[in-house]
Amino acid sequence: MSRIVYLNGKLYTMDASRPQAQAMAVERESGRILAIGDNVEVRQAAGSRAELIDLRGKTVLPGFIDAHIHLLATAYRSHDIDAAACNSADEVAQLVRERAARTPLGEWVVGNHWDRNRWPSRAFPTREVLDAAAPEHPVALWSKDGHLLWVNSLALARAGITAETSDPPGGAILRDGSGQPTGILQEGAAMELVARLISPLSPVLARQLLQETLAALLRSGITAIHDIEDRATYDLLASLRAEGRLPLRVRMILQRHPLPELRAGLLKADEEDDLLRIGGIKIFADGTLGSQTAAMLESYEGSLSNYGILATPEEEMRVLVREASELNLLIAIHAIGDRAARVALDAIELAERHLTERGQRPGKRLRYRLEHVQLIHATDLERMHRLGVIASVQPYHAVADRDIAERYWGERHRRAYAYRTMYERGIALALGSDAPVELFDPLRIIYAAVQRTDPESGRPSWLPEQALSLGAALYGYTLGAAYAGAEEADKGSLSVGKFGDAVVLPEDPFQISPERLVSNGIQATIVGGLLVYGEV
Ligand SMILES: [Zn+2]
Repeated sequence: MSRIVYLNGKLYTMDASRPQAQAMAVERESGRILAIGDNVEVRQAAGSRAELIDLRGKTVLPGFIDAHIHLLATAYRSHDIDAAACNSADEVAQLVRERAARTPLGEWVVGNHWDRNRWPSRAFPTREVLDAAAPEHPVALWSKDGHLLWVNSLALARAGITAETSDPPGGAILRDGSGQPTGILQEGAAMELVARLISPLSPVLARQLLQETLAALLRSGITAIHDIEDRATYDLLASLRAEGRLPLRVRMILQRHPLPELRAGLLKADEEDDLLRIGGIKIFADGTLGSQTAAMLESYEGSLSNYGILATPEEEMRVLVREASELNLLIAIHAIGDRAARVALDAIELAERHLTERGQRPGKRLRYRLEHVQLIHATDLERMHRLGVIASVQPYHAVADRDIAERYWGERHRRAYAYRTMYERGIALALGSDAPVELFDPLRIIYAAVQRTDPESGRPSWLPEQALSLGAALYGYTLGAAYAGAEEADKGSLSVGKFGDAVVLPEDPFQISPERLVSNGIQATIVGGLLVYGEV
């Protein structure tokens, strides 16, 4: 029985040539769809020896593709100190004190997810608070958005950071009135001064945490991800892959990766692999809204001299984008502020012109993506459309950031997280979570996209005119995300020849309330035709 037939279902295929179907047949060896249509024609195509699975009227969609996730960081979140629930710097310090008490002296105490925007005093915390909690352990705590590192004096000393240390390009070391480092490092270049000293978790533990997270993704209906991380994560995943323990499809987008290595063939080597592929590179144009490091055309509200940070100098951005486009890579540029979007689009426009001048046709794997696009000028929206740049967005950010968007951007917030406008302008949308910054549950994120609020808080919809329709949101989580990974030939719709990756929902989402969609959860998840979670 090398074929599996799912029949008696309500399939929304996302394939324009056949939007709805009753059944699909998947070939076990290749994991690809052999036939799709009504019960009779699919059973006929699959032959009499096929295994039959009765969907009993349940709804089937293509498996969800999370177009922006940090997988290993999501896995680590459960291991390190999680400061998400802390309401002050002192509460974080208490967690540090407890962790330090059971950590050998001199070893690192690491944590994440502190968020000063939810503390009464929104000031940056300082090293002194951590010094009091853990004087004999170096401490490094990432903020919720991952763009600030809060460290104690011992960590600064280990890194050799003093009043004399100058800011690295694209980063900042915050200092007090006398020029001493306060314990806050802004953006990758500065955070890296300390981060590189922290030894990674043992491979055994890292793999265990990864496997738990992968299983949780399957329970959420996710069958593929675009993992934005570095080469070390790729190596871990490759070892899981080699042992047959990688249960879903991963497209790696490498950050801070040397292009020559990619050029040397790392890419070609795995392009035929069904489960693990390297797709491209991630470049940071700026920081984040919560850290007030997103690069702005006009200064932040109430802070006239702050225009944010360009995390990659403009000239370097132009060179990177041009070289990556020549290599036919997917290019994902993190751009939250409107200046970051402009600088990124300038580089893309230049790269496109360069390709044309060279007479090089754009390769089929080349994709330009702006990640987040939380604020963008109207002329640049037009440019995104004209240049075919994809908006890779995480609708839960709109819900989580509504207060800080109003506080830090003032009137500009009315143009922020403008997903509906992007959709109507014909800009391709890909949806994702940005986990571990937010949770990865696609149903909750789709709720945020269509309701512009979260299912728990009871707050009114925020900028409801920017809500997506359910159809558009589901498309962004399936075929839209596949396109953003340059994998629309393999994934994103239930079509003959593509992978048999699907999610089964207990009820038709178009027939029930968004609240019910979230509370129902996922019935089952199918990868390559095999039931990998739940039952039907
Ligand atoms: Zn991210």
